[in-house]
Amino acid sequence: MTLMKRIKRVFQAEEKGRGLRMRLYGRGRGSVYDPVFGICCHFCRQKKLCGEKDCKRCCNFDTDEPCLGKTDCSVCHSSNGVFCRACLKVRYGEEMEKVRENKGWMCPHCIEEKGIKPYWICNSSLCLRKRKIAPTGIAIYRAWEMGYKSVAHLLMDELKCANKI
Ligand SMILES: [Zn+2]
Ligand SMILES: [Zn+2]
Ligand SMILES: [Zn+2]
Ligand SMILES: [Zn+2]
Repeated sequence: MTLMKRIKRVFQAEEKGRGLRMRLYGRGRGSVYDPVFGICCHFCRQKKLCGEKDCKRCCNFDTDEPCLGKTDCSVCHSSNGVFCRACLKVRYGEEMEKVRENKGWMCPHCIEEKGIKPYWICNSSLCLRKRKIAPTGIAIYRAWEMGYKSVAHLLMDELKCANKI
């Protein structure tokens, strides 16, 4: 197969929903939009069922249960600290399992407010706009190419460098 053909194949696969996006976002029920039971992710703003197999909320449609596939900030417990698995990983380089285990997990807004990790900022388009930084869009490809774990890691370095000048 020539390279062009191979690239074409990849794009076709992507169109069919088997590309990166699906691998990141399409975990079974994870791609099901549900305005009632789905909890809004601060980053993608999508109210989706999480698709985690042990999630009582998304599997049993029980609104009294927390969603296992969404983060909960131990400090603010607000909707600002709710991230879905895909955004958590791509935008902040964190794993849902680790966050779930960590009872003291903090969202990027609270980490910044407390000054725990300099330049660690929330890179949601909403929060970036507030700082007058252009939304990073699909910067994850650039971040990965440059060897960063996530967009937040890339931004952290960029901000650090910018401040040195
Ligand atoms: Zn999300
Ligand atoms: Zn869930
Ligand atoms: Zn928080
Ligand atoms: Zn934010």
